Amino acid sequence: KENNARENNVAKLKVVVRKRPLNKKELAKKEDDIVTVNDNAYLSVHEPKLKVDLTAYVEKHEFCFDAVLDEYVTNDEVYQVTVQPIIPTIFERTKATCFAYGQTGSGKTYTMQPLPLRAAEDLVRLLHEPIYRNQRFKLWLSYFEIYGGKLFDLLSDRKKLCMREDGRQQVCIVGLQEFEVSDVQIVKEFIEKGNAARSTGSTGANEESSRSHAILQLAVKKHGVVKESKRNNDGNEAKSGKVVGKISFIDLAGSERGADTTDNDRQTRIEGAEINKSLLALKECIRALDNDQIHIPFRGSKLTEVLRDSFVGNSKTVMISCISPNASSCEHTLNTLRYADRVK
Ligand code: ADP
Ligand code: MG
Repeated sequence: KENNARENNVAKLKVVVRKRPLNKKELAKKEDDIVTVNDNAYLSVHEPKLKVDLTAYVEKHEFCFDAVLDEYVTNDEVYQVTVQPIIPTIFERTKATCFAYGQTGSGKTYTMQPLPLRAAEDLVRLLHEPIYRNQRFKLWLSYFEIYGGKLFDLLSDRKKLCMREDGRQQVCIVGLQEFEVSDVQIVKEFIEKGNAARSTGSTGANEESSRSHAILQLAVKKHGVVKESKRNNDGNEAKSGKVVGKISFIDLAGSERGADTTDNDRQTRIEGAEINKSLLALKECIRALDNDQIHIPFRGSKLTEVLRDSFVGNSKTVMISCISPNASSCEHTLNTLRYADRVK
């Protein structure tokens, strides 16, 4: 395990916590900030409690992670701590996955959105470096969503997708559109297009998207010389390339949604159960991977099945746990930190 951790000098698993600042609403309500970050690796949560006789006291919970980022840390710094060190390893057959975990409103989307853009910038730069320039490497992007256990392509009108496993236990998402991206501006446009296609119900955008997992993948492929006759009509060369390495960015469903299993609404209950299942399965898979176990319980959920090929071989995982600082989020914050603690 020690050796594995030093491979490419990048840890196989990194668990990072990010605390967001108090927002206007919380400030207006004069809510307390109950999260203190110390030394970039430690944090304490000061849980407000009441004794039986109703006198107030504070219970202190302490945690330690690979990195703890406070409310002053910028998205650029988040990138530097989490994804940037992994980028060069993508060219050395690494399959990397970066998750954002946390309750709705804790900053998952705020944290995840800029990461693929920065990653694409660095990947494109590396593609043009002398050592890779003559290798016919290209960068490909896809973006899909898992909602209620079903897959939807966010870049082709929410087309419903299905998954297939081939004889070598490789997972393939049938019909998922992939696009070659040669510069960052194109990546930005695809992300915006995909975001606009994320599930939104009558109840409002954030409400619904908090029940889905959004998965954006950047793959480096090596392309052979393609005969003109073998090109697809749409000019899509995806099939002619062989994946060298890839990185997946996953904006997970709100962790509190996994508790929606007793809701009165049947649909909400089904979705809650699915989310609960996927977050549990994810934790089990990451733990199994980090312990170099032979058996990884992929089949636990759609999410982990889809990620199967990223979890075998040279895999790297970064988990960013997002937490809200306000006192009334305390229970969710502790749940998120305990989940992260179990993963690490
Ligand atoms: P989630 O995706 O977990 O539901 P969001 O990313 O949508 O949460 O964040 C909720 C709100 O808090 C958004 O308005 C976002 O802009 C803001 N926010 C989140 N994290 C930060 C941060 N680190 N600094 C400033 N604002 C933030
Ligand atoms: Mg979000």
